[in-house]
Amino acid sequence: MSAYLNSVLDYVRKTHGDEPEFVQTVEEVFSSLKPVIDKHPEYEKVDLLKRMVEPERMFTFRVVWMDDEGQWHTNRGFRCQFNGAIGPYKGGLRFQSNVYSGIIKFLGFEQTFKNSLTGLPIGGAKGGSDFDPAGKSDAEIMRFCQAFMTALYRYIGPDTDVPAGDMGVGGREIGYLFGQYRRIKGTWENGVLTGKGVQYGGSLIRPEATGYGAVYYLCEVLKHENDTIEGKKIATSGYGNVAWGIMKKAAHLGAKVTYFSGPDGYVHDPDGVITDEKLDFILQMRATDPMHCKPYADKFGCEFVPNAKPWGAKDVDICMPAAMQNDVDINSAKKIAEAGIKYYLEVANMPTTNEALNFLRGCENIIVAPSKAVNAGGVGVSALEMSQNSERLVWTEEEVDEHLRNMMISIHDSSVKAAEEYGLGYDLVDGANIAGFTKVAQAMIDQGCF
Ligand code: GLU
Repeated sequence: MSAYLNSVLDYVRKTHGDEPEFVQTVEEVFSSLKPVIDKHPEYEKVDLLKRMVEPERMFTFRVVWMDDEGQWHTNRGFRCQFNGAIGPYKGGLRFQSNVYSGIIKFLGFEQTFKNSLTGLPIGGAKGGSDFDPAGKSDAEIMRFCQAFMTALYRYIGPDTDVPAGDMGVGGREIGYLFGQYRRIKGTWENGVLTGKGVQYGGSLIRPEATGYGAVYYLCEVLKHENDTIEGKKIATSGYGNVAWGIMKKAAHLGAKVTYFSGPDGYVHDPDGVITDEKLDFILQMRATDPMHCKPYADKFGCEFVPNAKPWGAKDVDICMPAAMQNDVDINSAKKIAEAGIKYYLEVANMPTTNEALNFLRGCENIIVAPSKAVNAGGVGVSALEMSQNSERLVWTEEEVDEHLRNMMISIHDSSVKAAEEYGLGYDLVDGANIAGFTKVAQAMIDQGCF
């Protein structure tokens, strides 16, 4: 590995020892960049890698709100405007009790390369709070969102930074955040947030986009392998928007999700989550109880295994972890390999530990695809929402879906091309890292000393 790359990695390990998720993602991206750095000495000349691992701006803020009993609470808010070289900062907000600077920074770094891969002009950002939405009343969520936006509004804007949702932030939260922004600023400002309700500037297909995009990407991988999606069985994790989108699109295309999970364990439905009744039940379960998926098994009479993950199930063809970071560790990865799974597509941000990812990539018969490519359809459709808002247009479902499908085809193809250019074969992880990096790197160099 080139000395320059190593020296920046050492620097990150030394300076971010207290933010292990960030170190993990930098190690993962950099592991693909050696041939690029070797071929382009100009990157070292301008110290590009060290610039790239430093967010352009990152700040924390106080969020104070009152619960229904009249008690005051103080939470920490974060926004990391990681890289704005190719467009306004863009990325979601995560509300979850484990949120701290390391999580936000890792997500912002990933977002930079993911957004670059979409081919659209959006920079990378992420934000959130250690606020835990579980068990909060609607009024408490509203007050929290209003307090959060009161602190954040002066740092965002349609040409500056366009937040969206992530874990714990869905349509309801975006509505409250946008309402507060509008109340303070008194202007529409092209919607400023994405993931809005369709009645007030939201794009059709946005809620489904990450999951749909992941399945479109999967179709490209299958096509490359002279395989098809019909009849395929998929194991996923989570049952939020993303997993639900996978279930729905897989069902449209003749495949089925037969395993999914929640924090309480996993469900095995051999018939697949394919009917409208089941898909609607998932939505409803998500809205009423984000902590338990057992009610699905009770309702539809299928197996529920408590406190376990579905990784290692032998009767599936494809694994698509879609829940959270580091969901798949080395033990789960070994089980996946032993089960003879051929396709492993990351969907959540960084769902695989680096050890597990390296292990899976080293297995000859497994094709591994990285989350920054597979889940990029979500933010991609967010960028389409920005376009629609600025043009004062509403695209039809078909138009958005067609854009999304083409975007996923092009993300897959540009990754393949980038890996081939460096003689790496059909390596979707290296390809995505290199393609995402190259565009941002060139933009940074073109814009001079910044
Ligand atoms: N949070 C999502 C992601 O990880 C979406 C971000 C957005 O739409 O801006 O990409």
